[in-house]
Amino acid sequence: MSYEGSSIDPARPSIARVYDYLLGGKDNYAVDREIGDVFKRDLPGSVAIAFANRAALTRAVREIAKTTGIRQFIDLGSGLPTADNVHQVAQRHAPESRVLYVDIDDQVLVHGRALLEDNHRTRVVAVDVRNPEGIRSHPATLELIDFSRPVAVILSAILHHVNDDEDPAGIVRYWRDQVPSGSYFFLSHFRSGNNPETMEAEKVLQQTFGRGRWRTDAEITSLLDGLEILDPGIVPAPLWRPDESDGPWNSGESRQLTVWEHLIAAGMARKN
Ligand code: SAM
Repeated sequence: MSYEGSSIDPARPSIARVYDYLLGGKDNYAVDREIGDVFKRDLPGSVAIAFANRAALTRAVREIAKTTGIRQFIDLGSGLPTADNVHQVAQRHAPESRVLYVDIDDQVLVHGRALLEDNHRTRVVAVDVRNPEGIRSHPATLELIDFSRPVAVILSAILHHVNDDEDPAGIVRYWRDQVPSGSYFFLSHFRSGNNPETMEAEKVLQQTFGRGRWRTDAEITSLLDGLEILDPGIVPAPLWRPDESDGPWNSGESRQLTVWEHLIAAGMARKN
């Protein structure tokens, strides 16, 4: 692969590739695996967090596709292609679903174009989530998303990579104002546990990527200001509408969660 003209840098760890490594993917370099191994060694629950997050996202997309009639999704900070991507989950239940994938990482663009744009209902764009107008006015967005009809906006494990002074609430507010009533938002976010694990994890992320903000339930809730937060509220991801059929990560109600599984929160909200 040529790196010319692209910001893919195999010498520096990327959030997307480290996350891919934690999920057992292969789209990562030695430098990502090195950091991933630090996470695994010092933060042994980070793999559980990644899987719990992905499973909650899958349940949310399935639920939206099955129950709301929404057929268009914007997946902000979508990550590298993985086992069950948003369009695959949505199209399994509603084949006409359209998905716009957005990520800042050029590798997501390269691999995404190959693996996520597998039909004319999916597009991948490399735009910073902190530039919502850039996403909104992108030709792929204009082509794929009809803003006169309800949209599902997916903010899965992305806003904790946006620092307070970069106005994460403003990002949600922007999309809330762009989409019509009946639109849904799904959010997952590192959840501050006020414990040594949170502090250590926050330190590793800050040192590695210069960003990574754990927020309290109240802070996460306030990111969804002006939207109706649906049952069961903002809760640890394994407890967000668990479904045993999805595998062991989703059996939160029937067993004690580990301290790690408490460190990722999930919630869904609707614009009324
Ligand atoms: N949403 C996926 C999920 O929940 O499984 C992937 C989450 S992964 C932890 C975070 C993703 O956000 C990475 O792919 C990273 O490249 C992307 N990201 C981080 N900062 C971003 C930004 N400012 N704009 C767009 N994407 C960003």
